[in-house]
Amino acid sequence: MKNILIIVALLSTSSVFAQVENHEHKKMEVSMKQKAAKQNEPLKADGIDPVCRMKVAKGEKRTAVFQGMQYGFCSDYCKEKFEEKPGKYIKP
Ligand SMILES: [Zn+2]
Repeated sequence: MKNILIIVALLSTSSVFAQVENHEHKKMEVSMKQKAAKQNEPLKADGIDPVCRMKVAKGEKRTAVFQGMQYGFCSDYCKEKFEEKPGKYIKP
């Protein structure tokens, strides 16, 4: 009888751990989603693609934030180029 009690105690402890882990996992998922949403925020105002200097219209979804400034891109190619080395295109 004693043995059964120990097993029950072990089982309930491990399920508590599992719940905690699950909770942590959810928190991580949420913060990852928030990050992604921030990157994909549409362009707030007309701007210039810093890579090719083309005009980018407000609402463009290919954007990146660098030093607190939002930049829009004409293509995935320009966005990738920019994200590789933003400092190359943005002069302080
Ligand atoms: Zn471009």
